Amino acid sequence: MHKDIATPVRTREILDKYGFSFKKSLGQNFLIDTNILNRIVDHAELKERSGAIEIGPGIGALTEQLAKRAEKVVAFEIDQRLLPILEDTLSPYPNVKIIHSDVLKADVQAVVETEFAGLEDVMVVANLPYYVTTPILMKLLEERLPIRGIVCMLQKEVADRISAKPSTKEYGSLSIAVQYYTKAETVMIVPKTVFMPQPNVDSAVIRLTLHDEPPVKVTDEKFFFFVTRSSFAQRRKTILNNLTSQLPDGKQKKEDILAALKQAGIEESRRGETLSIEEFACLSEALYPYFH
Ligand code: SAM
Repeated sequence: MHKDIATPVRTREILDKYGFSFKKSLGQNFLIDTNILNRIVDHAELKERSGAIEIGPGIGALTEQLAKRAEKVVAFEIDQRLLPILEDTLSPYPNVKIIHSDVLKADVQAVVETEFAGLEDVMVVANLPYYVTTPILMKLLEERLPIRGIVCMLQKEVADRISAKPSTKEYGSLSIAVQYYTKAETVMIVPKTVFMPQPNVDSAVIRLTLHDEPPVKVTDEKFFFFVTRSSFAQRRKTILNNLTSQLPDGKQKKEDILAALKQAGIEESRRGETLSIEEFACLSEALYPYFH
């Protein structure tokens, strides 16, 4: 019986065997604590017939634990140097497939359809590369993949912004974008000591469970997200001032925005950070006819 990959001793052995050196630019901070990995996988609530997608398997620490609990695991890894290592470390797990690709450029939808056909559900589980956390999450959500949810490790500061509630300093357009698609919860705060090498920032694990239906109905999602982003353009400014500077020019722009705010029942002196997702939806619907 071999030892788990995610121990300091075995990880060191593997790195030495292949003369592997970490690339900071690829966000390579590997997990060396099996207990933490098991807790992450617990949060994914995998069933025997679940599929799992991993982003950035590294030397396979998380992949191994996923392979033990899911029917099939497909992992996207950008760093070619890791491919022979993964072939070696994951050789006991025939239910794992590694795809050598930048996940941001990959056709994840096609992979889900071909690799997980007939399975009960699909979860994304990852210890994300921190330099691209937000683009990866937004890609997975905007493409509306047929997945149940995402459990991932990321910078604590980003986790705080994603799960933030209105009227907190962390609440912003990222909170709204993610909460439009999912129920977002921070489920673990993780110490730096479980990584090799240790990252400079604090880490957390979030669980995103996809909504069956978005919590609000809007005519045009792109416009809704544009309005929310615009409302936070300068956090200290009022929503009226932010919208006036961000929305496209029109003859009576300010009057139109004032009329839409009134129609949505939102005081012009409020700041974006005080508006709930429902209020943003009302406001976006009220603004829509003026700007289309
Ligand atoms: N899963 C491993 C673990 O927990 O020990 C490694 C996690 S490490 C934080 C992030 C991994 O993502 C690295 O293996 C890195 O090479 C890979 N990676 C970085 N950018 C990527 C991208 N755009 N697409 C796919 N993988 C990427």
